[in-house]
Amino acid sequence: MVTASLPGTLSPARRAEELAGLAGAEVDVVVVGGGVTGAGVALDAASRGLSVVLLERTDLAAGTSRWSSKLVHGGLRYLAHGEIGLARESARERAVLMGTTAPHLVRRLPFLVPDVAGRDVTALAAAGGRLGDAVRLSVPGGRGSLPSTGRVSADEVSRLVPGVRAGRGGVVFWDGQLVDDARLVVALARTAAAYGARVLTGAAVTAVDGAEVHVAVDGAQLSLRAGVVVNAAGVWAQRLAPSIRLVPSRGSHLVVPGSALGSPSAALTVPLPGSRSRYVFALPQADGLVYLGLTDEPVEGPVPDDDPVPSDAEVAQLLETVNQVLAVPLTREDLVGAYAGLRPLVLPASAGTGYGPGGPAGVTADLSRTHLLQWDGPVLSVVGGKLTTYRAMAEETVDAGVGRLGRGAARSQTARIPLVGAAPRRALERVAAPGRLVARYGTEAPVVDALGPAAVVAGRPETVGELRFAVRHEGARTVADLLDRRTRIGLVPADRERAAPMAEQVLAQER
Ligand SMILES: Cc1cc2nc3c(=O)[nH]c(=O)nc-3n(C[C@H](O)[C@H](O)[C@H](O)COP(=O)(O)OP(=O)(O)OC[C@H]3O[C@@H](n4cnc5c(N)ncnc54)[C@H](O)[C@@H]3O)c2cc1C
Repeated sequence: MVTASLPGTLSPARRAEELAGLAGAEVDVVVVGGGVTGAGVALDAASRGLSVVLLERTDLAAGTSRWSSKLVHGGLRYLAHGEIGLARESARERAVLMGTTAPHLVRRLPFLVPDVAGRDVTALAAAGGRLGDAVRLSVPGGRGSLPSTGRVSADEVSRLVPGVRAGRGGVVFWDGQLVDDARLVVALARTAAAYGARVLTGAAVTAVDGAEVHVAVDGAQLSLRAGVVVNAAGVWAQRLAPSIRLVPSRGSHLVVPGSALGSPSAALTVPLPGSRSRYVFALPQADGLVYLGLTDEPVEGPVPDDDPVPSDAEVAQLLETVNQVLAVPLTREDLVGAYAGLRPLVLPASAGTGYGPGGPAGVTADLSRTHLLQWDGPVLSVVGGKLTTYRAMAEETVDAGVGRLGRGAARSQTARIPLVGAAPRRALERVAAPGRLVARYGTEAPVVDALGPAAVVAGRPETVGELRFAVRHEGARTVADLLDRRTRIGLVPADRERAAPMAEQVLAQER
């Protein structure tokens, strides 16, 4: 097997080597959880010169981080709630991602609010958009990163989202869109590995006992010692830190072919009936699909390990909301897939004891999206927040961890560290590979292309080279890793079924 040398390659050989040296190891930081938060913490810590082991029980981005709306957003909703500080932080982190750390993974996306949703709605959207522009202009790198909010004509509305009822204008504001949230996590983990972090998937932390971290991996139990254990286990964080009060809420999306909306180039934005700050978005994806989301439903009881699924009521709510502005309504027959994720919302300490699951009166939508940083003995939990702000959360977490380690470490460098594959936009334009691969792999796209340009399944853009690359360099070990996380073929179950034999074949050849 010829393996090009790439930074932070997560090859089968590297995993075997790192696993062999894990039992009894002593490290500065063990990170539990390989979502965006854990991978971000691992990169921050490793790039400051700390020794790091990241342990993920399933696969990179196996949890909430792959079920997001895939927006790198400036926090318009926070503005609606008067949370200016949160909005500024989001806008600042969006500029870091778009300008330095991951320009290949984030594109500019126009959001169309059509007048057919009501002139009061577009007036509010225009005011919110302009406030968002002002916040953007006030943060480093914000100027020039996105166009400004503005009104558009009826013709422009029809061009941006042909499926909208014709004849009226609208308002367009701009934000950032990730090509794929799971790819951000993989890029973070590999960049951490390039700085020396040991990244192990299929490794579940079963208990933390003082400085001892107990791990179940490949059917065996082992333990290692850590100066600090960072609990970045998302909605499952309570299992390692029972004092945290999480009130998960389910957010669901439907998947429809873009043709059902006339192949839109903008995100159609429709307010939820009765809300001034919550919208349903029809988000166009690079592969021609549209994700329609999202909902906010309190979840009662223990958090399950299985992937959550949208309820029938959520499907109805999403379709009804978007259909208000469409010329030809969407029906359940248009759906080719659906997905849901659990938001790790944290109850503030000030909430008192009167809050049950689901928050006051069962409403989670108004809980603040700020994160929690909390010590329980040697365990530092970091929970909540947003994908957009993972870097700032990671910096704060490692600052706190360094304080506890009691020895000096460099300040966080991560705002200036390009992730693997990243390059300035002008350099990305010159990469000699298909644009679709450049948007997912950046400067590494030619390596992916050389591994096989044939389609995994007819009618879909993913290539066999992507599957091979995932096994050789991105730590993919199973069919699910390949189809549900390194690529997102699995979002359309019928396509996943067709792709599974090829994924099995590639795994057999490469491992
Ligand atoms: C529907 C929805 C839409 C969203 N949209 C956006 C958006 O558009 N933009 C945005 O910025 N944010 C968005 N968010 C928020 C964002 O997705 C989350 O805040 C973020 O992904 C949380 O990441 P995490 O790493 O903390 O958790 P997770 O991604 O859930 O990661 C936790 C990981 O820990 C692992 N784990 C658990 N227990 C153990 C253990 N004992 N040992 C080892 N590993 C363990 C799990 O397998 C999992 O991989 C959205 C959230 C939802 C639910």
